[in-house]
Amino acid sequence: MQKYNTSQREILISFFKEHADELLSVNDIAAGVSDKQISKSAIYRNIAMLSDEGIIKHFVLEDSRKSCYRYISNRECKSHFHLTCKKCGKTMHMPKSTSEEIVNLIGENSAFKTDISQTVFFGLCENCK
Ligand SMILES: [Zn+2]
Ligand SMILES: [Zn+2]
Repeated sequence: MQKYNTSQREILISFFKEHADELLSVNDIAAGVSDKQISKSAIYRNIAMLSDEGIIKHFVLEDSRKSCYRYISNRECKSHFHLTCKKCGKTMHMPKSTSEEIVNLIGENSAFKTDISQTVFFGLCENCK
């Protein structure tokens, strides 16, 4: 049955949107869409596609070596840094002005142009530290 094929991608995208500030493992995603009858291989395939297209971003958590994904919500999220808790995976958005200050500081000291949209700071959030 190919019945669910056309909407698998949309189901996954809307799941990512609902959890836009979280890092999600494949198991989280599979559990989250378990009522939608998407096979694990279809989930993997769609995640790989969304990741290639830059709709979601792949992370490997340092402590657990767990592979996780996060939705790159919108254009705004390409103009500031993100702070991700390596323990619970929660992601915070750094204010744009602070992000730009950091980019300028790095640029002044090393003539290095930081790609804001690709940069995430890992650490511990308020609850985990
Ligand atoms: Zn953001
Ligand atoms: Zn945390």
